[in-house]
Amino acid sequence: MRYTLFLARSGGGSRAVVLPGWAVALFLALLTLWTGANLYLWHRSREARALEVRLQALSQEARRLSLALEAERSKNGALSEEAKRTKRELEEIKKAIEELRRRAGLSPLNALPVRYQEGGRGGGAVAEESLAGWAEVRAEVLDLKNQLKEVVPALERTLEVERSLPQGLPLRGYKGVTSFFGTRKNPFGPGYEFHDGLDFAAPYGAPVYATGSGVVAQVGWMGAYGLAVLLDHAEGYQTLYGHLSRLAVHPGQRVERGQVLGYVGSTGRSTGPHLHYSVYRYGTPLDPRPYLDPLWASR
Ligand SMILES: [Zn+2]
Repeated sequence: MRYTLFLARSGGGSRAVVLPGWAVALFLALLTLWTGANLYLWHRSREARALEVRLQALSQEARRLSLALEAERSKNGALSEEAKRTKRELEEIKKAIEELRRRAGLSPLNALPVRYQEGGRGGGAVAEESLAGWAEVRAEVLDLKNQLKEVVPALERTLEVERSLPQGLPLRGYKGVTSFFGTRKNPFGPGYEFHDGLDFAAPYGAPVYATGSGVVAQVGWMGAYGLAVLLDHAEGYQTLYGHLSRLAVHPGQRVERGQVLGYVGSTGRSTGPHLHYSVYRYGTPLDPRPYLDPLWASR
């Protein structure tokens, strides 16, 4: 089957481009893969944003209570023992929130939200309403503590999954991609072939890094990939690093993102030192390009 594409210029002529059926099918397949990868990354960053909103709310609540305590101090001249204890607890909570924000890669909260600045010390609606009674303030602090307890495991899970997904570059200071994902001209003979990853130009012996934490699924000679490392990540993801000259990991080993897996070489079906990098999801090769962007750093 063949498809004809008409390109018409306003006020000008038109051109017809005849495309074979396989080219149209390949284009649609690549578009689907690319869209899927982007949707997935978008979903992950949305989860992280939901956590950020919760942390921000907790932080504001801690600040509001702090202001209420300050208001009481200026009214009574000194803080009662109970108020002092509450203040100490609040400081601990605020520190814990800031630490969580730091670990989640979020910016610290410096500026006070405008609505809490208006009241000022000893006056203002915030102080009046929150000093209805100490029991109420204590209850709020406890509530804040409990909310914090809930956020911690959620954040840990998000960070854990995020660490174990392929993201970023397998090389430092890489010199560029020499062969992309998809159908390419066979570098060893006539015709075309499917290239299931990216080839990075790299000097012989350059260290190759894991793009996500995981477990070494396979290591050693893997046919055309030569000496290679295959990693298992979370959610059905795998990454493959091929044509290595030397290996730095063994099967079953747990590796962290950024850990050295081996060194660039030219083993297997290769015309010179370079790194072949593949990203698979449930066994299907994906275009690794959407996974090279450090998504979290760009937020
Ligand atoms: Zn390759």
